[in-house]
Amino acid sequence: MSGRLNLVVLGKQGAGKGTQCKRLVEEYAIPHVSTGDILRAAVKAGTPLGLEVAGVMNAGALVSDELVIRLVDERFKEADAQRGALLDGFPRTLAQAEALEALLGDDGIKLCINLEVPIDLVTARLSSRRVCQECGAIYKDTDIEAISGTCANCGGDVIQRVDDQPDAIRKRLETYERDTAPLLSFYESRGLLVTVDGDQSPDDVTKAIKAVVHEKGLA
Ligand code: AMP
Repeated sequence: MSGRLNLVVLGKQGAGKGTQCKRLVEEYAIPHVSTGDILRAAVKAGTPLGLEVAGVMNAGALVSDELVIRLVDERFKEADAQRGALLDGFPRTLAQAEALEALLGDDGIKLCINLEVPIDLVTARLSSRRVCQECGAIYKDTDIEAISGTCANCGGDVIQRVDDQPDAIRKRLETYERDTAPLLSFYESRGLLVTVDGDQSPDDVTKAIKAVVHEKGLA
């Protein structure tokens, strides 16, 4: 099991975690494991899990630790996760971070990348974010795909996530400060935390992350 490249990507909602993980998947040939994406897919498919979590997600609150830990445990058993994973949106609480250590054992997290972006900027990014319901492509409200409502990649519907509306954004950012920000000291105390300035172009953020991963001798 050793030699797995497990990277945690931390940052406020709207910091660019999803965008960066989509780019890094190709670079490192490890899957993007986003608990938010897994949960949204369950909601869209109307599975029992989706029905259970839809209300909590729309309100911008967190679903239970037990539930997401089980989802991640199952995801890690899939073939493509045997070389590692880019974890986006998980862990989000100290209990999840501890459970993740227990799941991964000695072959734990190699690095935690904190994408640092000021709160007013993430609020603006989330308010103007539009997403494809089919493939997850991310657009801005001023992009032609958002205006026409049709994804350029797959033809799916481009929508505003319910939790990207003002009340839910406020709630999600409060939840981040209360439950997730403590993970920064958790990973710092383990010597695993690296902070990258997320207030740069997506290309420059990707370059900065790749430089750190390279410096640490991880890839
Ligand atoms: P995200 O796309 O990562 O912002 O996640 C969207 C929503 O899914 C969150 O606001 C939560 O309701 C739920 N969610 C995603 N990941 C987690 C997690 N690790 N723990 C609890 N809830 C989560």
